[in-house]
Amino acid sequence: MKKRNQFLSYGCQSIDEDDIEVVVETLRSPFLTQGPKIKQFEQAIADYVGAQYAVAFCNGTAALHAACYAAGIGEGDEVITSPITFAASANCVRYVGGTVVFADIDANTYNIDPAEIRKKVTPNTKAIIPVDFTGQPADMDTIMEIARENNLVVIEDGAHSFGAEYKGKKVGTQADMTMFSFHPVKPITTAEGGIIVTNNEEYYQKLQLFRSHGIEQTEYSADQGGWYYEMTDLGYNYRMTDLQAALGLSQMAKIDTFIQQRREIAAFYTEAFQDIEGIIVPQQLEGTNSGWHLYMLQLEGISRKFVFEQMRSLNIGVHVHYIPVYWHPYYKEQGYERGICPIAEMWYEKALTLPIHLNMTVEDLSIIVSNIKELLKQPK
Ligand SMILES: *Cc1c(COP(=O)(O)O)cnc(C)c1O
Repeated sequence: MKKRNQFLSYGCQSIDEDDIEVVVETLRSPFLTQGPKIKQFEQAIADYVGAQYAVAFCNGTAALHAACYAAGIGEGDEVITSPITFAASANCVRYVGGTVVFADIDANTYNIDPAEIRKKVTPNTKAIIPVDFTGQPADMDTIMEIARENNLVVIEDGAHSFGAEYKGKKVGTQADMTMFSFHPVKPITTAEGGIIVTNNEEYYQKLQLFRSHGIEQTEYSADQGGWYYEMTDLGYNYRMTDLQAALGLSQMAKIDTFIQQRREIAAFYTEAFQDIEGIIVPQQLEGTNSGWHLYMLQLEGISRKFVFEQMRSLNIGVHVHYIPVYWHPYYKEQGYERGICPIAEMWYEKALTLPIHLNMTVEDLSIIVSNIKELLKQPK
């Protein structure tokens, strides 16, 4: 077994001197927030994914909250999402008073299974929040078909999938609204940050209103004078700063190399593990090209906890993404019971995240592979 000298995290940012320079430059500029960088950043993201509009937020969770508001989700509305995701994909529905309905995952892709979505649609269903888990796009054509048949809004949680492709196009225009997160572990970073991209002008207006207190210039304000604005709905201060947007713009210049390097690491892992007994490597849905935010194995015939603890003791930051959302005490108290998504629960027991990011060396990769292989040989 080989121990690393320092702890290797499962994910982390990639920041160069040019990123640092633009942030410092912005610090010296007249605008720390609400300046020109935000629009530029929004435009860069919209152009990259081929969407008409982009609205940046202080984080991805705020962006999801805003999308739920724009979609008109409220009390009595049901929203279907995956149980294998970060809690924010479900919490955003609760923020606006909606009810979360969990649909089970597909055993091969670990993404929400459209057949399970169909089973969960009721007359109260208002929206679907598919998650592009690990960076692999969800089965969007089928999900959009279900949505159109039932008059539902689709908010794609693309926190993992910025830069990924679905049927030859970048993720970002398949759903009614798509969220990307720029937390440091995500494909590019703005420290904290998030964005919604959409082709729908009405959503675009609502997202902007919600981001800034529900305040806008109306016809009435023009009558009153240049200082006059109106608060027409209850919004929040969910704005991104110019410092964050400047960092994001600088990171954008590198997105394709970032994704390329993640794909190379994923290919290395798959090659190393695909024929090993006791390991299941992740499969890709046809027509998708993952951005590989996460690389996850399933371990069979060996304790996941044992492998996790051994790897951690070797300073390798394996992790597990995610505990089924409805297992958390908050959701349990709302009446969600174990067993509602059996495939997700079975998958969770076997899942293990391996480190994947741009600050890893070839040696790190070979240490990880040889240690896992070694652990699997141990008596069970
Ligand atoms: C990171 C993440 C979010 C939330 O993004 P933040 O920017 O951290 O608020 C939402 N959904 C998923 C699946 C995520 O991984």
